Amino acid sequence: CGIVGYIGTQAATGILLAGLEKLEYRGYDSAGIATVWEGEIHRVRAKGKLRNLQSKLNGQEIPGLVGIGHTRWATHGKPEEHNAHPHLDTSKRVAVVQNGIIENYRELREELKQLNYEFVTETDTEVIPNLVAECLNQMRQSGETEKFYSPLTEAVRRVVNRLEGAFAIVLLCADYPDEIVVARQQAPLVLGFGQGEFFCASDIPAILPYTHAIVPLENGEMATLTPLGIEIYNFAGDRLKKHPHLLSGTA
Ligand code: GLU
Repeated sequence: CGIVGYIGTQAATGILLAGLEKLEYRGYDSAGIATVWEGEIHRVRAKGKLRNLQSKLNGQEIPGLVGIGHTRWATHGKPEEHNAHPHLDTSKRVAVVQNGIIENYRELREELKQLNYEFVTETDTEVIPNLVAECLNQMRQSGETEKFYSPLTEAVRRVVNRLEGAFAIVLLCADYPDEIVVARQQAPLVLGFGQGEFFCASDIPAILPYTHAIVPLENGEMATLTPLGIEIYNFAGDRLKKHPHLLSGTA
């Protein structure tokens, strides 16, 4: 229901939690965050209010300068911790948060099960990290990763072209620790441009304390956030030039 992403020079945990707090008005039944640090994905999730997630963290940060966070309003799968986002692929290299519904998740899930991917949730979202992991594996095996500036972006691009429904997706991969990839199809997603740090969120209030330079993504658009900047593409892979506009006022 609510999404926040951060990449930059600060510890991500505090920024993600503060962002999720600003999105609480949307309502939710569980919450979670994930970062990449020292080649691994670190994740904490909790059922119920954000303070449950906070008390699980017990004042500690999960390490990482890149991270994603989510407050969930369950549509597929009970509101339990194991169904809370971020969701991981079977080998725990890819983490995804999603707002919306993946209408064709059953077919995709069956296809992935045939390829020995294991599903540990009842959500529609869990197909996404597994599809991206599978796509990256195929690209590696065929030597295709060499051809792309960001193989992760290309894998996500191929995957979103297979997804039906209304969704906003934000994704991390332990093999590409300096990237967040996002995609929007009929569910809101905005990008925020800071000084050496970049943000994404399902709504502007989550970003406003950090920057007023915003680009709203349109349907059929995706983006790659790195500590150096943001590149925006359409789902066909064409690069789009968009300039951030400055919002006036304070948070
Ligand atoms: N359909 C997804 C789920 O049930 C996402 C729901 C949401 O937008 O929070 O986990």
